[in-house]
Amino acid sequence: MSTAPKVKAPMDEFNPFQAMAQRFDVASDKLGLDEGLREVLRTPDKELTVAIPVMMDSGKLKVFTGYRVQHNFSRGPCKGGIRYAPDVHLDEVRALAAWMTWKCSVVDVPFGGGKGGVICDPRQLSKGELERITRRYTTGIMDLLGPDRDVPAPDVNTNEQTMAWLMATWSMHVRRTEPAIVTGKPLALGGSKGRTEATGRGVMIVTREALKKLGLRPENARVVVQGSGNVGGIGAMLLAREGMKVVSISDIYGAIHNEKGLDIPDVLAYLKQNKKLEGYAKAEHIPSAAQLELDCDVLVPAATENQLTSKNAERIKAKLVVEGANGPTTVLADQILERRGVMVVPDILANAGGVTVSYFEWVQDRAGYFWTEEVVNSRLEHVMTTSFAAVEETARKHNASLRIGSYILAVGRVANVYQMRGTYA
Ligand code: NAD
Repeated sequence: MSTAPKVKAPMDEFNPFQAMAQRFDVASDKLGLDEGLREVLRTPDKELTVAIPVMMDSGKLKVFTGYRVQHNFSRGPCKGGIRYAPDVHLDEVRALAAWMTWKCSVVDVPFGGGKGGVICDPRQLSKGELERITRRYTTGIMDLLGPDRDVPAPDVNTNEQTMAWLMATWSMHVRRTEPAIVTGKPLALGGSKGRTEATGRGVMIVTREALKKLGLRPENARVVVQGSGNVGGIGAMLLAREGMKVVSISDIYGAIHNEKGLDIPDVLAYLKQNKKLEGYAKAEHIPSAAQLELDCDVLVPAATENQLTSKNAERIKAKLVVEGANGPTTVLADQILERRGVMVVPDILANAGGVTVSYFEWVQDRAGYFWTEEVVNSRLEHVMTTSFAAVEETARKHNASLRIGSYILAVGRVANVYQMRGTYA
């Protein structure tokens, strides 16, 4: 049983679990859920903390800490990424696990929510050290995992290679190759076409839908993207391909800006070669904080949590915020942006393209039959556009923001399933 705090209002603006719980409570009020059911749905089902002893390249032993949280499995196996970062903490992993429950529900894929994290700084680790951390972490959480129990995926600072190590380690322990234990793995190991681009593609699709609602034409939209990894980098490329002008993009060290529009394939090629945007010659370099306040139509925070806050929300100039990242906007910032008429497409909808194609990957692995990229992309397009419309309609019916509309839709579906299954006692 989880020891997660029971939260009603965000006491701490920057605590992601409290931010999740606050939106959950607003949606639960609208749905008229009773307190007992709320407590069940708010509370993570399982939390595991593991010690990860690793022999470093220096010959010294070091112990890392890893987590896996399973929030809710009412609608199916837990699903959610694994994050490697120095500031990973349990409340963050709890929030990310709960967001996965709501995200899978918003796009109606038959999964619950889970998330994992390891406290480490991958920038300071060799490939061998990362492999040993991944294999030992997998062994530590192995009893929670399984194609019908809990299926991890990549998140911040993890990738196809991390997933390959995870799948191979789990498979060695169970004495058979099990591709469906993880998604976001390389194609050769049973990955899905279109999975690497899926989250960015979903961001692009919902941006297009939201622009239509705002009466803005894509070719007139100036876009700022925070982050240039899987979500930000690929998202920026696909937004540019749709005719939008990406005027700024960033990484953890800073941002680049060109009012005339950046050549995104050129920027990404530079980044691939140099590992950072620093030194890119065809744009001006600006600090990360200034980037968020640039004059633009669309802002896509696609890096990490707590980027739009009570401190900067008044100065955000975008008319539309599309949350590529999980939890980039605090509850207080939401209130400010709503008052100022800024439309926010919430994380649990905006970045759900990743888990949608992860679901497609899991289905393909289990069937042993693989789809073409066209099939994957057209099914993703269908899921994202129908989910956007469903969230919009729910929000309109309840006179709420898209954020609260998406929570009402998601929490309502999970509550319904939970009630049909009943409490096992
Ligand atoms: P990534 O590791 O591929 O890229 C992260 C990017 O953000 C990098 O460019 C990094 O330099 C930048 N960054 C990190 N911290 C920053 C900071 N404090 N300020 C500015 N930039 C910073 O990670 P990703 O997979 O692209 O994930 C980004 C976000 O999207 C996360 O919130 C993640 O949970 C969410 N997300 C990812 C996926 C997926 O499929 N990868 C799916 C859904 C949601």
